[in-house]
Amino acid sequence: MANILVTQHIGDEGVQKLCEAGHAVTYRDETEPMTPDELQTAVLDVDGLVCLLTDRVDTAVLNAAANLKMIANVAVGYDNIDLAAATERGILVSNTPDVLTETTADHAFALLLAIARRIPEADTFMRAGKYDKFEMFPPLLGLDVYGKTLGIVGLGRIGTAVARRGALGFGMKVLYTANSRKMAVEQELNAARATLPELLRQSDFVSINVPLTPETRHLFTLETLRQMKPTACLINTARGPIVKEDDLLTALREKTIWGAALDVFEAEPQMTSGLAQHHERLVVAPHLGSATGDTRQKMVNTAVKNLLVGLAGQKPPDVLNTEIADQANE
Ligand code: NAP
Repeated sequence: MANILVTQHIGDEGVQKLCEAGHAVTYRDETEPMTPDELQTAVLDVDGLVCLLTDRVDTAVLNAAANLKMIANVAVGYDNIDLAAATERGILVSNTPDVLTETTADHAFALLLAIARRIPEADTFMRAGKYDKFEMFPPLLGLDVYGKTLGIVGLGRIGTAVARRGALGFGMKVLYTANSRKMAVEQELNAARATLPELLRQSDFVSINVPLTPETRHLFTLETLRQMKPTACLINTARGPIVKEDDLLTALREKTIWGAALDVFEAEPQMTSGLAQHHERLVVAPHLGSATGDTRQKMVNTAVKNLLVGLAGQKPPDVLNTEIADQANE
C-alpha cells in the first residue's frame, strides 16, 4: 500500500480507482492549487503524487518528499515539474499524451477560425444591437482561411493534428518547425519544414504548439512578431510564457500583425491588463485546450493508470524519465 496525494479536484472516478487498488489516498478536493509551503508539507510522507499543471513541483517540493517514487501529472505539458531534479532523485514522472491531442487541435482551430472571422467581436456587435443594416464592406471584415498558409511552430502530436485540419479540411499549405524532420507528415500533408524566420515570413496563420522549455520561453517577442506578415494571425494553445505578452500587446496596437488568439497566458490566470482591454482582433480563452468532459476524464484515467503501474514497480506507459523506469526493471 502506498500513500498517494491528489493535489486538486480530479473527480471521483480517478480517486476511486486509486482507493480500489488498495492505496491510502489523500484527496484534496479543491480547485485552487496549494501554496508552495502547503505543498511541501503535504508531500512529506507521500509515495505517489497526482498533480495538475498549476502545481509547481520544484526542488523544494522534491527535497521535502523523501518517500516520493512517482509523480503523475494530469497534463501533457510538464513544465511545472523539475524533471531533471526528479530524475536525479530516482522519481518517475509521467504525463498524459495522445488522449488530448485531437481535442486541443479542435480548440486551436476553433480559435483560428474565431480570430479570422472575428466571431467574438461579431457576437458582441449583435448583442449590442449594432446590426442595423447589411453592408457590402461591414466594419467586421475578416480573413480567408481556405487555401492560406498555416505555419506550425512545433510539429508534434498536437501540431500535426492542427496541420491535418488545415491541410485536409481547409486546403492550407503547411509549413512547420520542429527539432527533427517529420517525413511522414511531409508526405501525408505535403508539408514543408522551414526555419522559424521563413515560417513567420510566409504564414497567414501561425500556430504555437511547442512545449515550454528554456529555449521556447519568449520565443515570440516584438522582434519575432515583426517578422510575421501584417495580415497574419498568431494562435497560442501551448503555454503562455512562449509569447512575451507585453510585446504582443504592442504588436496588436501597432498592427504589426492582424490578430491573435490565445488560450494560455504568461502569468495565468492573469493576463496583461492591456490585453483584457484590447477588443479588436484578439480572441482569448481561459486555458480550455483539452477542456471537454470526455477528454479531461481520459486524462485523469491516464494519470491514474500510470501511477498505479509505476507504484507496482513496472514501467508506466507514459513515463518521461524512461532511464529510471528501465533501471528499475533491469
Ligand atoms: P509533442 O508531441 O512533444 O510536440 C512538441 C513539438 O515541439 C515536437 O515536434 C518538438 O520537435 C517540437 N519542439 C520542441 N522544442 C522545439 C523548439 N525549440 N523549436 C521547434 N520545435 C520544437 O507535444 P504535444 O503533445 O503536441 O503538446 C505540445 C504542447 O501543447 C504541450 O507541451 C503543452 O504545453 C501544450 N498543451 C496545451 C494545452 C491547452 O490546454 N492549451 C493542451 C495540451 C497541450 P521534435 O518532435 O522534433 O522533438
